[in-house]
Amino acid sequence: MTKRTLIRCDRLFTGLEDEIRRDHTIIVEEGFFTYVGPASNAPAQAPGDTVIDAGERFVMPGLVDAHTHLVFGNARSEEDIDFWGTPEFRALRGLFFAQRVLAAGYTSIVVPGDAGNCSISVRDSINAGLFDGPRIAASSNVIANRHSLNDWFPEHVGTPDYVTGRLCTTRDAQIEEVRRQAKAGVDCIKIAMDGTHFRENGTHIAAFTQEEISGMVTEAHRLGKKIVVHAYGKEAVLYAARAGVDIINHAFFADDECIEAMLKSGSHVSPTLTFLRNNVDFCPSWEPTATSGYQGAQRRIIEVAKKTLNRMREAGVPFMAGSDSGFAVTPYGEWHAREIEILVDWIGFTPAQALRIATAGTAKAMPRGQLLGAIEAGRRADFLLVDGDPLADVRVLQQREAIDAVYLDGRLMSFKQRPYDAYKVSHFNSLKWTDVYSRERVAEIRATT
Ligand SMILES: [Zn+2]
Repeated sequence: MTKRTLIRCDRLFTGLEDEIRRDHTIIVEEGFFTYVGPASNAPAQAPGDTVIDAGERFVMPGLVDAHTHLVFGNARSEEDIDFWGTPEFRALRGLFFAQRVLAAGYTSIVVPGDAGNCSISVRDSINAGLFDGPRIAASSNVIANRHSLNDWFPEHVGTPDYVTGRLCTTRDAQIEEVRRQAKAGVDCIKIAMDGTHFRENGTHIAAFTQEEISGMVTEAHRLGKKIVVHAYGKEAVLYAARAGVDIINHAFFADDECIEAMLKSGSHVSPTLTFLRNNVDFCPSWEPTATSGYQGAQRRIIEVAKKTLNRMREAGVPFMAGSDSGFAVTPYGEWHAREIEILVDWIGFTPAQALRIATAGTAKAMPRGQLLGAIEAGRRADFLLVDGDPLADVRVLQQREAIDAVYLDGRLMSFKQRPYDAYKVSHFNSLKWTDVYSRERVAEIRATT
């Protein structure tokens, strides 16, 4: 007989319904839930069984983040992301931070855009049993086009192999890149649908035509890979939805035509507003994010996004939860669950609905996702014991000390919160001045200090 673990739960949230179940028993065997039901009907305890009494702790499925960039290293700039760390260093750093993410209660993450083989290597080393870490849906470089996101640098730089973007400016190159990534072993493919150019009236111009995005989606799906896009603009969202992409990140400027197309294609929306909210809430006035006008723009975008995303919720568009972790403003393991708070506060979901989105809902983005995200017989035994009641206040999931135990495949994970040197992890740029010290400027500074 196989070794079993029995967990007695006073408060069980399965991820498949809004209510909690009381006085239930969960049985885990060989990494899977084999029984989830009333304690009174549970198979009898046998010699050799391990018994855990969850007591008053809230038992729930492991959380899933649809948007964690393992390769970014808590970056302070695009140059930090792309130029300074070797691919080998970025992969090792990604592995370290993946464990931080797991410790925060996130047992699965989707990496929507990466560089080279970094997240693929981290995933493979975890799956091979070399290290503990979350389940990872890995990706490779973001497919970019002229003037799209991830084609940040001047034409004479382009997108060398080690940067996150990969310029694919013809249909043949786009299909070839989809096939290259599939061969490399990605689980999902990221496309930068938004351009960085705008029309006179301020609307975004999509970076790919309908024909281009449809071609990539058809080929990716033929090869069994999911497609994730970054799309704020209406045109980008519409093309992506019509093409049948799996996940649309952001979708802030979508209109009713987009919503209709998303309902038809079954595309999910992952708002990923945590990144914007953190920028607005946390960054003081002297940060470049504030002085450049970026923070102000994000504040305005949030107001539009709230309206759009409420309409999507009312229309029945399926949601996922992602945080855009990996930037200096969204460091790993810190703010993932803030997206759940945003789903409740800004988009109008109940706490139970938001929790279901952040578990079973977002698990659909993972490979074999139907086996993840919920506490149900036949699924993988990824679950948490939480001190507190997330249904009363979802913010409890953001408290490190409230995540009392994290089980992956029925195994209790243990973590040492090793301190590290943030300045050796990223921020390699050689910026020394943010001002220009002309005679006038020096006099001005001297007069005011
Ligand atoms: Zn992102």
